[in-house]
Amino acid sequence: MKAIVKTSRARGADYRDMEVPVINKDELLIRVTAASISPGDLCVYNWTAPSFTPPSLPFIFGQDFCGEVVETGSLAKGFEKGDFISVESHIFCGVCGQCRNDQRHICQNLRVIGRDIPGGLAEYAAVPARCAWKHTDDTLKDIGAVMGPFGSSVHAVLAEDIVGKTVVISGCAPQGLFAAGIAKAGGARKIIALDPSLYRRRLALKMGAGIALDPSAKDCLHKIAKVCGAEGADAVVEMSGAAGAVELCLKALRPGGRFVAFGLPLTNLSIDYAGDIVRRGIRLEGISGREIFRSWYKMESLLKSGAVNPRPAVTHAFSFKNFRKAFDLINSREKKCGKVILTP
Ligand SMILES: [Zn+2]
Repeated sequence: MKAIVKTSRARGADYRDMEVPVINKDELLIRVTAASISPGDLCVYNWTAPSFTPPSLPFIFGQDFCGEVVETGSLAKGFEKGDFISVESHIFCGVCGQCRNDQRHICQNLRVIGRDIPGGLAEYAAVPARCAWKHTDDTLKDIGAVMGPFGSSVHAVLAEDIVGKTVVISGCAPQGLFAAGIAKAGGARKIIALDPSLYRRRLALKMGAGIALDPSAKDCLHKIAKVCGAEGADAVVEMSGAAGAVELCLKALRPGGRFVAFGLPLTNLSIDYAGDIVRRGIRLEGISGREIFRSWYKMESLLKSGAVNPRPAVTHAFSFKNFRKAFDLINSREKKCGKVILTP
């Protein structure tokens, strides 16, 4: 089969022939129909994640994908050939304290498909059956490869009631774009999107943000206060991880507001912990991944009811063969893209 693989511990990847995976008893063999490029994939491609070490080279990456079941292991109950599935990339152990307390997404023994075992940037992939989400009809087939990231945004935005609240969404890469639509469906009173890219600010407005601002503009904080009131926003969903954005968002939040920490900074941040968090009673919540599978049920409902349409945020599709064009587009300074899909 053809696959996009890391062949060296350096920037880039290759498109080459690989063996079709042999599945374990608890796994499904998936004929991949589409994969979306995740921030994790980008780190692997750019080689900017020093903590990532492929188990062996060449290594197939790709964390978010969907496809058709073509083979089932003897212990992979509940699935059959022809089922269409989206992949939950987090492999949970099922027996640790977190798993037993419905926090499988932060399992103590977490492994990630496309990071710890081969991923979905290939014609075929082996997936543990417990990480497969079976579609019951064809309505979400076209967005099957973005359900993982969409679910993370569902988790981040709806971890707490946002009805009637003012919400700042910081960073309008795909996660933030999805978040804008989810915040609208969740009943937020005002949604303010922040991103330096004009292209992405326009997409955020299309997705449901009421106003989109450039966080690097000097009067950004002032403009947020004009929309939310002088006390500040009720909630911030910080998805960029950019140091300046984190600082700005902490100041944009009202005392007692909720700060959702989702974006991953490249280096440790220096923040006014006492002044901006402790003394203002800010509630800080780290969000990593989706609740397995609670977020999936929520997103299925949001998507099938039409409450959120993620499709405007999915802006480009390339064939596997043209994968370099896809990564170049996401890496470009202008960021003239939302979610980018790759298909075999
Ligand atoms: Zn566990």
